[in-house]
Amino acid sequence: MLRYWHALLDLVYPDPCRACGTALLGNESIVCTRCRVNLPRTDSHLVAIDSLRLKFAGKVPVQNVYAFLKFERAGKVQRLLHQLKYNNQPEVGLMLGRMYGHELRQAGVGTGLDLIVPVPLHPRKLAQRGYNQSDSLAEGLSEGLGVAWSNEVLVRQKFTETQTGKSRFERSENVAGIFEVIKPARVENQHIVVVDDVMTTGATLESAIEALLQNKAASVTVVALAAAV
Ligand SMILES: [Zn+2]
Repeated sequence: MLRYWHALLDLVYPDPCRACGTALLGNESIVCTRCRVNLPRTDSHLVAIDSLRLKFAGKVPVQNVYAFLKFERAGKVQRLLHQLKYNNQPEVGLMLGRMYGHELRQAGVGTGLDLIVPVPLHPRKLAQRGYNQSDSLAEGLSEGLGVAWSNEVLVRQKFTETQTGKSRFERSENVAGIFEVIKPARVENQHIVVVDDVMTTGATLESAIEALLQNKAASVTVVALAAAV
């Protein structure tokens, strides 16, 4: 009975596409077909993008740096990110992760990758949001790529008191050593994929990569959902 009720509700109030807002058709879910085709991709897995690689150059060695979508202010990608991060819709991350995973796999990316690891969220944000958006991306990527994922390998250290008093800028400069690998055996000699939602300065990712390499990861590839390129 409940199922029929939902079907009826869908007819009266169709779910909107999370990217463009138009009503989804019966066979569509989360993002409409037109948006799926037209979302602005960076294609960084086909042609390397210098601005992405340069975020890590001279800091930490990375195998590859991939970003799925081009971040544009007030565009569809920003809208999707908003749904994912601030509107309690981890399913958006799962879907986009799956999509990107499929596209990477079709291009031959994925062979040789051992483990997908999401960047852990700040504990206070995790408590507010109830989920880590990078977990859902990692889970989707894992399905699309056919590579295992785990959020129990890399953890964020507890926020220290000295950091809480600092300004936002000082905090962002103070990310070194905030991550810890608690299952080093899962990392040693492995090619790890680190996943984040938006790649900005790369400082947080850099810190995560450092922790993985210190624990003898063989190599690290970065995958972000979006980046301004
Ligand atoms: Zn749409």
